[in-house]
Amino acid sequence: MKFSEYPYERINMEEVGRQLTELLDRLENSVSSKEFKEIWMQIQKISDHIMTESSIASVRHEINTADPFYEKEIEFWDETMPLLEAYSTRQANILLSQKDREELYDLIPEVLFQQAECRVRCFDEKIIPLLQKENSLSTEYGKLKASAQIELDGKIYNLGTIGRLMQDKDRDLRKRATDAAMGFYREKEAEFDRIYDELVKTRDQIAKELGFKDFVELGYLRMTRLDYDRKMVENYRRQILEDVVPLDRELYERQRKRLGLDRLRYYDESFEFESGNPEPKGTSEQLIQAAVKMYHEMSEETGRFIDRMVNDEMWDLLAKDNKALGGFCTSFEDYKSPFIFANFNGTSGDVDVLTHEAGHAFQYTMSTNIPCTDARWPTMESAEIHSMSMEFFAYPWMKEFFKEDTNKYYYYHFTSALKFLPYGILIDHFQHEVYEHPEMTPAERKACFRRLEKMYCPHKDYEGCDLLEEGGWWYRQGHVFQSPFYYIDYTLAQVCAFQFWDRQYRRDPKAFEDYLHLCSLGGSLSFLKLVKEAGLKSPFEDGCVRDVVKDAREFLAGFDDMSY
Ligand code: ZN
Repeated sequence: MKFSEYPYERINMEEVGRQLTELLDRLENSVSSKEFKEIWMQIQKISDHIMTESSIASVRHEINTADPFYEKEIEFWDETMPLLEAYSTRQANILLSQKDREELYDLIPEVLFQQAECRVRCFDEKIIPLLQKENSLSTEYGKLKASAQIELDGKIYNLGTIGRLMQDKDRDLRKRATDAAMGFYREKEAEFDRIYDELVKTRDQIAKELGFKDFVELGYLRMTRLDYDRKMVENYRRQILEDVVPLDRELYERQRKRLGLDRLRYYDESFEFESGNPEPKGTSEQLIQAAVKMYHEMSEETGRFIDRMVNDEMWDLLAKDNKALGGFCTSFEDYKSPFIFANFNGTSGDVDVLTHEAGHAFQYTMSTNIPCTDARWPTMESAEIHSMSMEFFAYPWMKEFFKEDTNKYYYYHFTSALKFLPYGILIDHFQHEVYEHPEMTPAERKACFRRLEKMYCPHKDYEGCDLLEEGGWWYRQGHVFQSPFYYIDYTLAQVCAFQFWDRQYRRDPKAFEDYLHLCSLGGSLSFLKLVKEAGLKSPFEDGCVRDVVKDAREFLAGFDDMSY
């Protein structure tokens, strides 16, 4: 069935609440694991249906934000979803009270018990007022950024629209646009500092009231990190510092030479080629056709996947009026269907949708045999392995998308991923320092950031921009304010994806097979167990990063970027 043909109706909350209460009572009093599993599946059917209807409303609203019907429905779901929280909390508690857990593992994998335990430890009724405070501070940060009215050459921009000018070919315009954007942060510096200071102190208090040493411990639990701790993260950081930072310094030096500049300044960093960034060739329709061909040639499984996406129209890719911005992949459990939302705009980002978001959608398709819905999508650091790896597995077909820009695309895509790693680690390391020393003043926090930034991103040349020189870059990084510790995940997944690239580069015939296996496991295991199943090394293990960097250097040596 096509997405456009999916019927939609609101759930009757009273009726659903009655059914769930009755089933949860029976679940609590079940006498055998067989009975427990049967009731569990009945509850799952109800919650799958709720999730499906709410996702349909949300996707249709995003496709056309001016549709009054779905606007109303979104209001309904915003009010209804929190009411369902009480039922899922009760269900988690019943699950955790089960004595014969092993007997349930074939339906409810161990990892779901562990995740439920994490969630229980992160919450207590007494911290509700503090959680509300945390939420409202986080919203305040979003509003402050959205309020930006940046004037440049007689026009008003926001932080999003000025971004294009910050990458303009005209160096003087790039500089003025960057300075104007940083001017906004400087002007609001006291507010950003206050919001963050209150967030840090609130989170520290939450952690201590729950009995943790500091917020770092709680932050890891909130991200349901089951098999790594801060000691292991420290070792991973050291590897990035020793192996990736020196390579990135060379890449920035190549960039400086390529652009013919005396110094690569803070407003030059995201400008890569005088001749412009690599762009896909052809219409959106041609790009989609190229993707269909690619997935058919890649494997039987990917071929079947892409046919279903096309036939059932399980995506909405083109930008249009009243459509929400951004791109994502979601799923409708009742139909076991993934869905891709995007806004094609003629940049290489369009191809990323057809590889990255399609990688997420493909993983979901491969996981639909897993009986327990919650075990289909993995946690963040694992979920991005599938999508980022698909970007690499798609390399042999990039000629079909980029034609004469293909080599430029490889260089751009590959080096962007390498340049991201130390930055991702910096954002994570900074947060460890912040929450281990909640007493730091805003000025001390900035000094701390700048000190770490000099370690991980030594190429940064901030002369002439005081706020950046003083350590204020992170004001723009929303995760620091709104999703603490959610950042290293991208780098861990990237290191795993690089290993798949490396295996493919060394023509390992098992690489894609292992990738398929990983996709089929969905979220039924924790991060490091999934990594092991995929035949990859743990990013925390010594030598993992070094091996990837060795082959990356060899690969990059094949690109004479001086001619771009
Ligand atoms: Zn993703």
